[in-house]
Amino acid sequence: MKSPVQKKGVYKLIKEIKILSEKSLYGIADNSFPSGRLGGAAGLYIHIPFCKQACHYCDFHFSTSLKKKGKLVEMLCKELVLRKNELSSPQIQTIYFGGGTPSLLEAEELQQIFETIYTNYKIAENPEITLEANPDDLTEEKLKMLKDSNINRLSIGVQSFFEEDLKLMNRAHNAEEALKSIKLAKSYFDNISIDLIYGIPGMSVERWQRNIEISLELGVPHISSYALTVEPNTALQKFIERGKIKPVDDEAAKLHFEILVETLTKNGFEHYEFSNFGKPGYFSENNTAYWLGKPYLGIGPAAHSYDGNSRKWNISNNPLYIKALENDKIPQETEVLSLSDKYNEYVMTRLRTKFGVELAEVSEKFGEDYKAHFLELAKPLQKEDLLQEKNGVFHITSKGKFLSDGIAADLFFLD
Ligand code: SF4
Repeated sequence: MKSPVQKKGVYKLIKEIKILSEKSLYGIADNSFPSGRLGGAAGLYIHIPFCKQACHYCDFHFSTSLKKKGKLVEMLCKELVLRKNELSSPQIQTIYFGGGTPSLLEAEELQQIFETIYTNYKIAENPEITLEANPDDLTEEKLKMLKDSNINRLSIGVQSFFEEDLKLMNRAHNAEEALKSIKLAKSYFDNISIDLIYGIPGMSVERWQRNIEISLELGVPHISSYALTVEPNTALQKFIERGKIKPVDDEAAKLHFEILVETLTKNGFEHYEFSNFGKPGYFSENNTAYWLGKPYLGIGPAAHSYDGNSRKWNISNNPLYIKALENDKIPQETEVLSLSDKYNEYVMTRLRTKFGVELAEVSEKFGEDYKAHFLELAKPLQKEDLLQEKNGVFHITSKGKFLSDGIAADLFFLD
């Protein structure tokens, strides 16, 4: 029988892990958290599958028709109740509203979800509660509403401070709104992260540098930054095929990434994961717990869940999701992870972070055969100066940083 890795293909596994990281499902213990905050804790991810308009590059699950938003929120609450005993961990340490565009939620809808969560789950003291927001939604009124709810961290989808880039990507906000939303958000929230995209066709080095400088001037304590990727069946792919948009230039993206790492680390940010940079005390607890392999429950269409042994994913279709929940059914599929799946995910997520692959942990979690496999395949990568070892912990070198996913795939165990 083929292993799940072979069935899915290495590329798909890499993509899945990246999506889980980027959509902030869970993450790694480290000294920028108060000790013990992540021990034994679990997370809750709520997917809000609605957007005002479709960004040209996006292949996440969302609908631009908001007609069923109220009904869907009702069904999210039902799913929360039906699955309340699924997590074995005693308490929820982080709650993450991702999407889609969670900032489209109205006060009553958010309140309805929080009431259901607090009635049915044990929530830790001082949980991290993040909401992804788009700049055009962040009016003074919306920010007040979010501040009055339980939200204590905002992740703002800025992507760029330049009109040309925003138009090319078909973002719903303009450059002025990008700036204004952060300035306004700062008077309500201290814990703010922004997303920036590099490697956009036509984006000069100067424009990218200016994007980073503006972010620094605005004083945000956390930045997540991703290379623009051309996903199959997106508008971006079609425009590039028809010659309407220039293809993505990998060399330009690599240069943008190097500038990003250099500038942010010089300015007090720690590069704690391939796409994530935080000032001390501002790392995302939610993502960190994911990289640590903590369990999480994903609620809503397209949401993934993980219990330490299996991964589940809900159907990516709003009407079918609603229909199933109306009949008290959770429309989901399950994949039980083999030992090699878990090892591959461990290697991939750890090499993307500053925490690295710990040899002792590889032996303890996966056994001596996996340790020997890792050491054997690591040798040529060490020779090429792509991987380095210090005190039994392997990290990607600066030379290998932009290639981390490929390096991790070279170390995978394919049965
Ligand atoms: S707002 Fe986010 S989820 Fe919605 S289409 Fe744009 S990138 Fe995709």
